[in-house]
Amino acid sequence: MADIIQLLPDHVANQIAAGEVVQRPASVVKELLENAIDAGATRIKLIVKDGGKTLIQIVDDGKGMSVTDARLSFERHATSKINCAEDLFHLNTKGFRGEALASIAAIAHVEMHTRPEEDELGTLIKIEGSKVISQEATVTPKGTSVSVKNLFFNIPARRKFLKSNQVELRHITDEFHRVCLAHPSVQFYFYNNDSELFNLPSTNLKKRVVHIFGIKTKEKLVPIEEETQVVRISGFICKPEYAKKSRGEQFFFVNNRFIKSPYLHHAVMASFDGLLRTDTSPGYFIYLDVDPSSIDINIHPTKTEIKFDDEHTLYAILKSTIKHSLGQFNVSPALDFEKDQNLDTPYVLLNKQAQQPDITINPGYNPFKEDGFENGAGRFSKRLPAGEWESMYVGLESKVGREESFSTVHFESDTITGSIFEEQPGEEGIGATTFQLRRKYIVTTIKSGMLIIDQGRAHQRVLYEKFLKSITVKETLSQQLLFPISVTFSKAELAVLDEIKESLTSLGFAFGAFEREELQITGIPQLINESEVGGLLDQLIADYQMEISGNVDTQSEVLSKVLCKSLAVKTGEILDKESQQALVNALFACKETNRSPFNKLIYVTITERDIDNKFN
Ligand code: ADP
Ligand code: MG
Repeated sequence: MADIIQLLPDHVANQIAAGEVVQRPASVVKELLENAIDAGATRIKLIVKDGGKTLIQIVDDGKGMSVTDARLSFERHATSKINCAEDLFHLNTKGFRGEALASIAAIAHVEMHTRPEEDELGTLIKIEGSKVISQEATVTPKGTSVSVKNLFFNIPARRKFLKSNQVELRHITDEFHRVCLAHPSVQFYFYNNDSELFNLPSTNLKKRVVHIFGIKTKEKLVPIEEETQVVRISGFICKPEYAKKSRGEQFFFVNNRFIKSPYLHHAVMASFDGLLRTDTSPGYFIYLDVDPSSIDINIHPTKTEIKFDDEHTLYAILKSTIKHSLGQFNVSPALDFEKDQNLDTPYVLLNKQAQQPDITINPGYNPFKEDGFENGAGRFSKRLPAGEWESMYVGLESKVGREESFSTVHFESDTITGSIFEEQPGEEGIGATTFQLRRKYIVTTIKSGMLIIDQGRAHQRVLYEKFLKSITVKETLSQQLLFPISVTFSKAELAVLDEIKESLTSLGFAFGAFEREELQITGIPQLINESEVGGLLDQLIADYQMEISGNVDTQSEVLSKVLCKSLAVKTGEILDKESQQALVNALFACKETNRSPFNKLIYVTITERDIDNKFN
């Protein structure tokens, strides 16, 4: 038999290896930023076009490369960072595999300008798909500039797989944040499509956090500090009252390298035990310094996972360090129960007479009766076209006898009142008989038995369709605010806000001027309370970021989902009769009545026959 095994040509091997190192533009950004840091740069500039699909450029003022090194740096396994396997245990650089530049050059058009300080002329190398196109001497500043154009130009399947520019930009921003947070003394710039996103001066960690995440972060931070034989811990945790539902600002760095560690995250959560609202988790910026020989960072090609020799000890130390800080800074209420600072009178009010607040109550107020529900063209005052509720019978038909369903459909489908919902003597309207069960379900009778409706899910469905409609038909129900509310946002949050602004406007938000990190909000949707706005927008931005990146939903769907989730009534809320009935009515006026926007069952039907069977 003829020999069939052959060695893969280098460019093919590089392309395969590239798949491991470069998943998306953000991976290129990470590798190039890390190279710049390893080269001892004090200023690093990141320039991105079209979410990194068209251009990623990183310019540093680091040590640069000689002519030979410049050429060699694109070879696979070419690294200046280790000489032998033993070196792997004493690493204090970011790179060591010598794969990044080779991989990137295999799948993009790369240009590198580089010059060490001592040389007069620098080197310019152009490489496309692993092929060196040109190499020449050039005049260039000290340091290195690598530009990567047309990523995945030779792997169309990969290129097609990339997400929208906005999503890719977000991934890039995440990587950028990680490197910036690990190196606060390095100055960073970040430009996207010619506009400046970040300009971060050389500073300390606390200021770096504030520069990235906005001035409002400042009051959230509590420092942590601990030094033991196995680990030095430093950084900041966020106060529990600022904990969010999303897992946004959570960072672990080990020896200044960003890592992910569900195990250590658990330690943080454990130390906040009892201080957090359900389903929220706190932000943190935690730096661990350990002996490099006690960790193995080689277990994952993109190097965000790490193996510690003694995880359990680390867990325990981290947990007690955070607990200690929470106590020391009076964040933990149990440790400071003698005095509640909220009860202190602000200085300016000390000698003033207390004033009786004016309270006006509208006794007829009913949250479910607002706008779309009740106005002239209100949904449940109009008759439902048969098609919308007929589906209810589909389920029933199989359960009840043919005759019964026949009679229901043909003789009583005229109005809702006369159809599926049973009329009670003396009472009018649909779903007239309702009661609330365990502050969770609404029970209502129908001709053939009864419905048990999950109140939260039903309300989510009602609100979801309402919001979706507002966005798509741009039928705004806005309340103008007499006094605009100022809310602070970080640059990253503002970028997201910009993306969803149009939809928010359709929902009834109105935005005014933006000054010194503060955005004026001049109008809000009618369904929202003024006091909720700040928190709601924060949640909206965070959830939107999370949802949209892994999701097939459109922007309007994502926003409507986020909003309906936070605004819908919850389990545990008491609803009066009127609200119960309004909710039932509104639900059955929806396009889809069976499933919540999160695809959960909204109600179950119990037929008379089901009940009869119980008695048999
Ligand atoms: P690694 O970082 O794992 O060594 P890379 O492929 O990222 O592998 O880089 C290969 C080599 O090129 C590095 O070891 C370093 O010597 C050199 N190099 C890469 N980027 C720079 C830079 N910005 N400045 C100076 N040298 C660099
Ligand atoms: Mg590298």
